[in-house]
Order: sequence, then C-alpha cells, then structure tokens
Amino acid sequence: MNTTTLSLKWYIKRITTKFEFKIARSAESYYDVVILELSDGEHLAYGEAAPSKRYEKGPDAILELLQARKSQILALPLEDAESRQDALERVFPESYSLQAAIDTAFWDLLGQRVGEPLWQLFGASKNLVTSSYTIGISDLSVIPEKIKEATPYPILKIKLGTDYDHDIMQAIRAQTDKVLRVDVNEGWKTVDQAKRGTEWLAEENVEFLEQPMPSDQLDDIAELREFSPLPLVADENSVRPEDLPGLVGAYDGINIKLMKCGGLTNARRMVELSLKHNFDIMMGCMVETSIGITAMSQLASYARWLDLDGNVLLAEDPFLGVGNRSGEILLLDKPGLGIEKR
Ligand SMILES: [Mg+2]
Repeated sequence: MNTTTLSLKWYIKRITTKFEFKIARSAESYYDVVILELSDGEHLAYGEAAPSKRYEKGPDAILELLQARKSQILALPLEDAESRQDALERVFPESYSLQAAIDTAFWDLLGQRVGEPLWQLFGASKNLVTSSYTIGISDLSVIPEKIKEATPYPILKIKLGTDYDHDIMQAIRAQTDKVLRVDVNEGWKTVDQAKRGTEWLAEENVEFLEQPMPSDQLDDIAELREFSPLPLVADENSVRPEDLPGLVGAYDGINIKLMKCGGLTNARRMVELSLKHNFDIMMGCMVETSIGITAMSQLASYARWLDLDGNVLLAEDPFLGVGNRSGEILLLDKPGLGIEKR
C-alpha cells in the first residue's frame, strides 16, 4: 500500500468537563485538544493530542509543530509502526501527545484499509475489566453531588494529595461503600506522610494507590512500598517505555497513557516490558475525547485495571467511539478505531 496520496488536517477543539477537574497540582474546567484528520482519499482516520502541562507545552505549540513539520508526517510509513515511532521521537521530541495523535491516526488508517478493528489487529480481545470513574478534588460541599453523578459506575478513582484528604475520604465513605482507588498525583512529600496515608487508606477499602509521591523521589517510594499494605502504581513515573526497568522494586504496577507514552506503538512496547518486569498493567487517560479513549481501549484487554473515563467526564464529547456502560468499555467491530463525528 503506498501512502503518497495522504493528506492531513488539524484543528483545536475545546472540551469542557462536567465538573471542574482538580488534582493535586492543577484545576481546569476546559481543555483544548488538537484533532488530526488523516485521509488517503478513501478513508478518514483520526488522532487526538491532549497535551498535559505536567509533560509538555500546550496546543498552540502543537499547531506550530504541525505547521512546520507536516511534510515529515506525510512521509511516515503506514505499515512499519516501529520505525514510524522511532521517526516520530526524532521529529517531535517536544510533544508526546502529538506523537500519540499521529501514531493513532496512522493505526486508524491502517485498520480501515485492511478492514479490521485495531484490537483484533493487535491480537487483543473485547473482554475488558470494568473501568473506574474519577472523582476530582473539590470542596467538601460538592462531593455528595459528584458521588450521586457517579452512581452508574461501580469503581471510583479518588484524587487526593491535599491537606484535607481525610475529610474528602470521610465525605465519600459517608455516601458509598464502592471499591475505591486513590491517586495522589505526587501530592505526598515525605515518607512519613505517605506511610500514614497508605496505612489509613488500607482501612478504607482502597484497592491500590497511584503515584503517592513525586516522581523524583523514587528511593522514598521504594521505601514506602516495603511498608505499604496497598499495591503502588506508577503514573508520573511511568511515562515512556524506557522508564520501566528503573521502576522495579518501587512499584507493583504501571499506568500506561497514550498522551504520555507517545501512542499505541509505544503502549504496546510498555505492555511487553510490563510482562517482562512483572508489573501489573493499568491503562489510563487524560481528559480526552472519544478518539483518545477509543484508541487506548484497543489494548485494554492487556490491563488488570482500567481508568478510561476521560470522555465520560466531558459535558459534551464531539466524537462517538467506544461505548461506556456503567464503566464497561464497549469495543466496536468497525475497521480501525470506528470513530464518527457526533
Ligand atoms: Mg494518575
């Protein structure tokens, strides 16, 4: 298959969340994502870049990169994903989310051309564990409304890392006995604080703890793990495939996200490395549309834990992709990603 007739368009899409999305380091009520449309004249493929301020500059920087290096994108190979990813890392070292958007669009196009859904092309399955639904940090007075809004979802992921973590948990536990997962987003700064936190959360029916301490305190995290009754899952520490070997001993699991790792090709590398190093796999997301969520879902059967709720946190999702029925991600049988505009 030749790729000489490819064309590429892009635009910024503003997506608004139902509630302000607050975590230990930031609070936003809308995000600007960059949507890519890659066409071969017959098929229309999609990609999405949802840049995180934690890792890179914003959408305007991505538009500049696209403008300046469009011809290099159109010259990328469609079928040799490994060499395409290596090229993406050379051409766009500044933006992991742009790498992800481009890689996703090329995979979507390939899947459409061969007439197969990507999960099938990847040898993955449609049989997925239930995804969690995220409860961001908020004033205590808003928690009842949020827990009510989350009624359909059996597993909640709670954002902590504040100076009123106990109050948040107390307010949540006053309303629900659902399985909870806790994400501290690097919010606890000392081993003592983190030890007290894990001990206390273990009594609150919490399943695991995500990124309890800053990513540059790996020795502290390893010390915490010796003590922690809860499994520790890396997120800010598990950005790229090359990060994984260094996490052995500090973490039980790793969170893979397309917008951090640079796309499906690298996500597959991280799955392989996780099996090699014995990490449990979690798959997560940023606040994203159904393009990004549908893309990550293609590999979701490799995960023990799923947190693919970015699209259902939105007031309005501009795209249709995988379904989400009470946290159950419903993969499609359509070729490629199967994305449609809403
Ligand atoms: Mg996280």
